[in-house]
Amino acid sequence: MELIYKCPECQKIIDHLEIASLSEVELGFDILTEQEKEDIIKRKADSVHINVTCDECEREYDWDQLIYQQQLH
Ligand SMILES: [Zn+2]
Repeated sequence: MELIYKCPECQKIIDHLEIASLSEVELGFDILTEQEKEDIIKRKADSVHINVTCDECEREYDWDQLIYQQQLH
């Protein structure tokens, strides 16, 4: 299975890796709420897309989103 980290803003692929199976605990997704997982994790037949904002787009974030991001981590 392929795990693809993609920026939802500019559609750039930030990183991708091969994984044997999708373990939410291993990947740190178990701390997310169900709603956050739905927003961030897009499962496809043979790959999983993870929405992560790249550095370039993150700089353009407004303050509300920036604060939200910091609470998440
Ligand atoms: Zn971007």
